Amino acid sequence: MTRFLSPENPNLRDAPAWYDDVRHIWLPYTQMKTTATPLPVASTQGSRITLSDGRELIDGIASWWTACHGYNHPHIRAALTEQLQAMPHVMLGGLVHEPALRLARRLAELTPGSLERVFFSESGSVSVEVAMKIAIQYQRQRGHAGRTRFVSFLGGYHGDTLGTMAVADPEEGMHALFKGVLREEKVVSLPRTPEQMREFTNALMRERESIAAVLIEPRVQGAGGMLFHDAEVLQGIRRACDKADVLLIADEIFVGFGRLGELFACEGAGVTPDIMTLSKALTGGTLPLAATVVAREVFAAFWSERSEDALMHGPTYMGNALACAAANASLDLFEREGRVEQARSMESELEAGLAPLRKVAGVRDVRCLGAIGVVQLEEAGDLEALKARFIQEGVWVRPFRDIVYVTPALNIDEADLHTLLVAVERGVREHLKH
Ligand SMILES: *Cc1c(COP(=O)(O)O)cnc(C)c1O
Repeated sequence: MTRFLSPENPNLRDAPAWYDDVRHIWLPYTQMKTTATPLPVASTQGSRITLSDGRELIDGIASWWTACHGYNHPHIRAALTEQLQAMPHVMLGGLVHEPALRLARRLAELTPGSLERVFFSESGSVSVEVAMKIAIQYQRQRGHAGRTRFVSFLGGYHGDTLGTMAVADPEEGMHALFKGVLREEKVVSLPRTPEQMREFTNALMRERESIAAVLIEPRVQGAGGMLFHDAEVLQGIRRACDKADVLLIADEIFVGFGRLGELFACEGAGVTPDIMTLSKALTGGTLPLAATVVAREVFAAFWSERSEDALMHGPTYMGNALACAAANASLDLFEREGRVEQARSMESELEAGLAPLRKVAGVRDVRCLGAIGVVQLEEAGDLEALKARFIQEGVWVRPFRDIVYVTPALNIDEADLHTLLVAVERGVREHLKH
């Protein structure tokens, strides 16, 4: 029987009446029979999640890295309220509106180099799909119809749709489960040493007639295991792409908007990709929105007299006015509240809080970059028990595989961050004792 409504589900304690309807929902990445025990949430504020039984949790992951200003920021709320009065949504087919155009212009200004043309969609996966379609069509329209494949990296994650699963790490993308269904892309090791970079560049040169683009999460591979690489790796891959004349797609859906202490990871590394994908923190964690930002030179291949050269893609809710208003308000906060600096200075606090775990038996690695703190275990152990332990400690942290990580709101206050890190340290220590 489903554990949702069984007496073993600890979250049933004092659950509100509406929780019974949980029998109709299908949750993400969850075996519904054995591990579905979601916590009923009543409200959110700042870095706090309030459960319907009144308990408060300090949020350690900002709702999958979206809520970069904390929840319910008054400036975003005011912008949304105002936009709601005027127009929540209008189709972008043949119509435009101020929030979408203003956001497109601001993203063009903020992203590096000649990235300047913005295609909106409603989720990160779709923005990557759009980037991939643009790359294939770009190659065809400049006479390289055979360049249709992608090179991506082990440890990477680019979304859950069929096209993006094919460029993920085979394990993360569950290639085995979908064998024969996914496209066969080239998922290779990240070239970390000069020698590996030479080999990577040579392989790219050899196979370039089949390759449309290289796809990478710059500096941090997030959902695939919170793996870091140096700016030099990204720079080397950019040079390899230039040499082989293939496009570089930077998936900044996780790292974009300050997470690493730079507005964009590419910017910090001095690298300009040909296409950049953005989503997660774009609306400050309020509404779904994603953007595929394209370089002038790439867009030029679509600028023609021939209707068949147009990009044939159009999500129904693209450029949703409410979501664009939220994103514009979120960008205001980056300008006004020094958010990127807050992220940068969080690194030393994360390091100080998590460093003691380095010496604990069963901890493989502790690493911090910007506002990301990662504890990697030798063995995952009983993750459900660890999650429950964190909840008891009053924090919301969601370990996966052998990874316990924190990615709090960039403006989390010092006391909450301290409590969060103490809870993580204690939780991991206790977990490893069992
Ligand atoms: C989350 C994520 C995606 C997918 O975004 P969705 O909105 O979940 O579709 C793609 N790439 C990266 C790097 C991500 O972190």
